[in-house]
Amino acid sequence: TQEMLLQTQKLEALGQMVGQVAHDFNNVLAAILGNHDLLRTRLYEPEQLTCLDRGTRAANRGVALVRQLLAFARKAELSPVVVDVAQLVRAMEDMVLLTVGRQVRCQFELASDLWAVIADPVRLEAVLLNLAANARDAMPDGGTMTVTLRNLPAAAAPVELPAGDYVVIAVADTGGGMTSDVCARAIEPFFTTKPRGKGTGLGLASAHEFARQSGGTLRIDTAPGAGTTITLCLKRAQVEPDQNVTFKEHDDRRLH
Ligand code: ADP
Repeated sequence: TQEMLLQTQKLEALGQMVGQVAHDFNNVLAAILGNHDLLRTRLYEPEQLTCLDRGTRAANRGVALVRQLLAFARKAELSPVVVDVAQLVRAMEDMVLLTVGRQVRCQFELASDLWAVIADPVRLEAVLLNLAANARDAMPDGGTMTVTLRNLPAAAAPVELPAGDYVVIAVADTGGGMTSDVCARAIEPFFTTKPRGKGTGLGLASAHEFARQSGGTLRIDTAPGAGTTITLCLKRAQVEPDQNVTFKEHDDRRLH
């Protein structure tokens, strides 16, 4: 029975990991398909279009596979490292713009001299893309999404946070907001109000899990008709001032 328990735990862990990877692939595939659509409006050669269609079909097969894998889903192991979060956000601006589409205005408000954080940069990117996708879905008729980054010194941090310095990442939209019922269930895995095939109900669940595993928090401020702000507080990294850390170096900067 000890053996069986171990086996179950292993399967559970595997399922969670696969689910997370599948979820992230969803965003990658969405970016590929989005670019295919752009390209399709610019290509006229039948031969080029045939190649593009083949690529699109392959990506769509990927989407179908990912959907099956998502049947498992939960959380994944993180590889936390020192991340220059300002640089990470700047580097993904294009992808965010592509995710939200043209009808949504995007504002990036990055305070200067932002601290580095300790987080898994791949997960952090995926979380931010998820939040951007949620903001887009909340504003089908357009609106504004604002991504704000600022330092939160220990002295100013709310009491519910464990003592220490944090960096705040907030994604705000001017969409329809959530009712208190939806808000109460929003971080529940697989809870979604979106049509089948559109929502997975894993975006906020994995964002919340990511924040928790990174020693931080996720907060939802929302009201019907008043838009939504998702606020992540991530632990500040204690780095020597002369260490020039960037998120690209994360592979050789593992903390453990
Ligand atoms: P999904 O987006 O796949 O539905 P999420 O876990 O990201 O899964 O979100 C769960 C639910 O929370 C959504 O279906 C939606 O009802 C609500 N929600 C999330 N983000 C927002 C937002 N920015 N504005 C309004 N509602 C939101």
